[in-house]
Amino acid sequence: MVGSANALPGMEANWESVLAGGHPLDAAIETVKIVEADPNDASVGLGGLPNEDGVMQLDAACMDGETHNSGAVGAIENILHPCEVARLVMERTDHCQIFGEGAYRFARSHGHPHTELLTEKARRRWIRWKESMSDQDDRLPPPKEPEAEKHGSLPTRFERHGTIHCSVLSTRGQVACTTTTSGLAWKIPGRVGDSSIVGAGLYCDGEVGSAGSTGRGEAAILSCGSHSIIELLRQGKAPIDAGHEVLERIVRQTQRMAQWQPSLLKADGRPAFNVHFYILDLRGRWAGVGLSGHANFAVADRDGGPRHEKIVPLLG
Ligand code: ASP
Repeated sequence: MVGSANALPGMEANWESVLAGGHPLDAAIETVKIVEADPNDASVGLGGLPNEDGVMQLDAACMDGETHNSGAVGAIENILHPCEVARLVMERTDHCQIFGEGAYRFARSHGHPHTELLTEKARRRWIRWKESMSDQDDRLPPPKEPEAEKHGSLPTRFERHGTIHCSVLSTRGQVACTTTTSGLAWKIPGRVGDSSIVGAGLYCDGEVGSAGSTGRGEAAILSCGSHSIIELLRQGKAPIDAGHEVLERIVRQTQRMAQWQPSLLKADGRPAFNVHFYILDLRGRWAGVGLSGHANFAVADRDGGPRHEKIVPLLG
């Protein structure tokens, strides 16, 4: 199992089922559901930070390498486990993705309950953001210090993210993966990121391996990041080299984009944001890579069990 750092508790809970020969998609979905339901994780599902209207809109997708099928929901509201709804799209429809109101109605038709996902803590952070974002509207900023101390500081533009990804290779050599998120905090309503887009925020191929991403979704979409990694693995690259090659492309693509959006780059010419990829091939080799900085990712293998390892940054 390979995934984002926040997948560790789920890996600990589901690792035995993988060792016992369980289906990789069952293990991946059960792993991410733990974070979807955790009100203390501010980046995924319940307790996540809402869009600019204060509404929680979630994105999720899953893919099964054995059947080469996928399912996704995007901008879905009031559903606790969008990863399970993505699986229903895959298994109970002839479609790959259902977004918006239709996704909610589809989930309800399969018995998923209507759930309020905006916690009081997240609502207070959202209203503090709304009241502080401009001095040209009629909302007045709250007293800063006590609010910030109680509810945590507000994320800056390129910190407004968080997601969970999990890729699994079964004892029978099958791969599957899932990615689920509440997306960027304060996003424009209806914005769908990479987590719902097969080829961007996740991809697996039963002949090759599995990959997924967290971080700036637009960069994963514009590079077809997870699919590109799988194609590089297919050509014989090791997971870490495949990941770094796609990150190098993202750097070059961002430098071109910065011609019209300069804030995408820092003063030293590096991207102002981060992207992580989690990669697993059929030989059981894995990597966790990122653009820059120190971070962990989660791994569980037969020898070492579930644990954190260090992301290998491209740019240090
Ligand atoms: N990739 C997610 C998105 O862009 C956010 C994240 O992973 O932090 O929606």
